Amino acid sequence: MPINCPSCGSLTATPKALAKTVFSLAGAFAGAALYAASRRNGISIGKPKGRSITGIADAVFRIATSSATGCITGARLGDEIDLQVLGNYKCGGCGTSFSCPQG
Ligand SMILES: [Zn+2]
Repeated sequence: MPINCPSCGSLTATPKALAKTVFSLAGAFAGAALYAASRRNGISIGKPKGRSITGIADAVFRIATSSATGCITGARLGDEIDLQVLGNYKCGGCGTSFSCPQG
């Protein structure tokens, strides 16, 4: 479904997803950092998948899991910021940023 620009009525609006991109990356790093911090403090996140996984592979798996969780959380937060604050679409005609929940 085409998105109309509220300013000029153009149908050339494109999704921006700026905050979503930034927060996804930040969330991924935060997730990995949280895992690293929890390891230092002796807190365990998640459970090991079995004894066949070596310590390094287990750590990599857990970092990836923590990072993915942070990325998803960041993407959701970024989506809301794009929608509520920044405007999630930019008009290709006049350059106006605006919010539209359909994106
Ligand atoms: Zn426009």
